[in-house]
Amino acid sequence: MNMAKIAFINIPAHGHTNPTLPVVRELVNNGHEVLYYSSEEFRDKISKTGVEFRPYKHWMPSTKEVSERMHAMIDASLMFIEMSETHTAWMIEEMRREQPDLIIYDTTCMWGYITARVLGIPSICSITHFVLDGSKSTLGFGAIFRHFLTAIPKLPRIIQWKRKMTTEFGKDNVGGITEYADLNIVFTSQEFHPENDFTDEHFHFVGPSIDETTRDPAQTFQLTGEGKAVYISLGTINNLKSDFYRTAFEAFCDYPAQFILSVGKNTDIAALQPIPDNFTVYPYVPQLQVLQQVDAFITHGGMNSVHEGLYYGVPEIVVPQQMEQLLNGFRVNQVGAGILLGEKAPYGRVTASELRSLLDKILSDSSYKQQAEHYGKTLRDAGGYPQAVREIEAYINQHVMTPEPA
Ligand code: UDP
Repeated sequence: MNMAKIAFINIPAHGHTNPTLPVVRELVNNGHEVLYYSSEEFRDKISKTGVEFRPYKHWMPSTKEVSERMHAMIDASLMFIEMSETHTAWMIEEMRREQPDLIIYDTTCMWGYITARVLGIPSICSITHFVLDGSKSTLGFGAIFRHFLTAIPKLPRIIQWKRKMTTEFGKDNVGGITEYADLNIVFTSQEFHPENDFTDEHFHFVGPSIDETTRDPAQTFQLTGEGKAVYISLGTINNLKSDFYRTAFEAFCDYPAQFILSVGKNTDIAALQPIPDNFTVYPYVPQLQVLQQVDAFITHGGMNSVHEGLYYGVPEIVVPQQMEQLLNGFRVNQVGAGILLGEKAPYGRVTASELRSLLDKILSDSSYKQQAEHYGKTLRDAGGYPQAVREIEAYINQHVMTPEPA
């Protein structure tokens, strides 16, 4: 096998980073040298994999800001073009000095794509969400039209960006706000991905990168009691939602099931009192263990959570808090593995009676469970991070020549 020096280029977002961590850890274990670019906030998390962590030199939004700007597709796009204006020239200099054999860039990191083209370095694109290009059925025509309308006032800015980047880095090296590579690794299964006439043989679906061994080893979770159990979580970012938690209390306080509610480390649990007897509230739970013991999952629809629920065959009610989660929830709903709720912007607004009747529905209609199990199997069969590593190494063997020892 050829050994490579790899530069991994990412943004400070957990959803875009988490699936890549077991991948780079294995690449390092297999003897490759990996430099991983992200912001300081991510240093500890990324360094643990054994890669060499490299912070960006210039401005990067915080994780919180990234998450907020991902509320609307157009804001996310504007953030990505700002980032590429800021980082491309520096990244070209950095890569000129480091001379990697391969660049792996997250889909949002056009500074990685452009650098690879300017310097003629082989590249792979890492995709931790759905590929929107060509996915007509991802959201429905109505929603796509509404997004198009919100984008119109911003078009002059996008055109200005394109002109500026083209002048600086060359027409052939600058594409649109998202550009793909010869090899694109998509962290979902082909079956769960929305139907798409764009993803061709250059797109390899490896499934979610779920690695139980690296998750919360110190924390164990064991359900006690009989009957149905439901897990509720809004993830790790948009979780300061006391109103939503109180709505859940109202909906389910006399529901014949037990509820495990994870509210995030920054939510004041005491302030949520009174908490119904059938709820146990935690700041954080070992989610993979919890999911293996529950009958339904009420989730915000983060890509990791959606995948993890299906991976263990748990039907979902998806209450999105932002745009990307809406896309995920839309797909869960479309394949019948759960139900999307609160999808009208600004998202996430639900009533107690809606929550209650939908939980009734997914617990009583076995087709939701069957579909969750079916798509869970496709996610497991796709191979996960070991498959991503095999794909990357096969690419290295084809495109990177290791010099013969003198
Ligand atoms: N998570 C967890 N315990 C919790 C809440 C979340 O382990 O109590 C994990 C969950 O398993 C998932 C991640 O945090 O891997 C959340 O990622 P996701 O993409 O679902 O949402 P985000 O937090 O990025 O909005």
